Amino acid sequence: VVEARGVIKNFGTLHVLKGIDLTIRRGEVTCIIGPSGSGKSTFLRCINQLESLDGGYIIVAGEPVGVKLKNGRVEAQSNVESARSRENIGMVFQSFNLFPHMTVLENICEAPIRVKKENRAIVRKRALTLLDRVGLVSKAQTYPAALSGGQQQRVAIARALAMEPRLMLFDEPTSALDPELVGEVLDVMRGLADAGMTMVVVTHEMGFAREVGDHLIFMDEGLVIEHGNPRTVLNSPAHDRTKQFLAKVL
Ligand code: ATP
Ligand code: MG
Repeated sequence: VVEARGVIKNFGTLHVLKGIDLTIRRGEVTCIIGPSGSGKSTFLRCINQLESLDGGYIIVAGEPVGVKLKNGRVEAQSNVESARSRENIGMVFQSFNLFPHMTVLENICEAPIRVKKENRAIVRKRALTLLDRVGLVSKAQTYPAALSGGQQQRVAIARALAMEPRLMLFDEPTSALDPELVGEVLDVMRGLADAGMTMVVVTHEMGFAREVGDHLIFMDEGLVIEHGNPRTVLNSPAHDRTKQFLAKVL
C-alpha cells in the first residue's frame, strides 16, 4: 500500500529525514519508535502530504504522493488532486482535534458530507456503525468537551474511518491520555488491526507494538536504524542505538 524510497525532508538547514525507505503491505501494522526529534511525525506528515518532499518518493495505493506524471514529466499535483489522494489516508494525532462546536455525530459526518459530497443519510448510518465499533453510540449527541480524553480519541478514530481510508496513520495517539484511558484507545486500534486495516503507528506503547505490530521500526536522526519483527527488535536489538533507546523506555 505504501512504498517510500529515499525520502528526504529538510527544514532550512535542518536535515530531518535523510533517506527513509519503507514498504507497507496491505493489512499490516507497522509501529515506529524513536527518540524525540528523530523525524517520526515528519515522516507521517510526508506520507499524508502535509509536508512536501525534498528528495525520494512515496507511493500510496499505487499513486505517487504529491506529484503526477504529465507528458512523461513529473509535476506537482494541484491542490484538488492532492486533496483527493489524501482521502485514502486517515490520520489520528496526539491531540484529538475534534470540532468543539459540533456533536460527536456531526464531527464524524462532516468530512464525508462536505469533502466527499456523500449522501447525508448514508453517512449518518455509517457514523453510527463506527460509533458502535468504538463503543460510543450513546454519546452521538454529546459535545466533545463533555467526553474524557479516551472517548475523544475514540471519536477521532471513528471520524478518520468515516472517510473509508485505505491506510490509517496514528501519531502517538495515546500520549496525551491519562494512563487509565490508554487501554480503551489501544483496544480500538487492536480491533481495527484485527479487521485488516493497514496502519502505521508512532507509539511509545511497546506492549502494543509487540502484540499488534507486524513490523517495528526504530528511527533515529532521520534514518531507519532498525526494522524487523517487533519481538526480535525489542528482545534482541541489533544496533547499539536501538539498545540505548530501549534501555531508557522499557
Ligand atoms: P517527537 O517524539 O518529539 O514527536 P518526532 O520524532 O516526531 O519527535 P519530528 O516532529 O518529526 O520529530 O521533528 C523532527 C525535527 O524536525 C525536529 O528537530 C523538529 O524541531 C523539526 N521540525 C519539525 N517540523 C518542523 C517545521 N515545520 N519547521 C521547522 N522544523 C521542524
Ligand atoms: Mg512526533
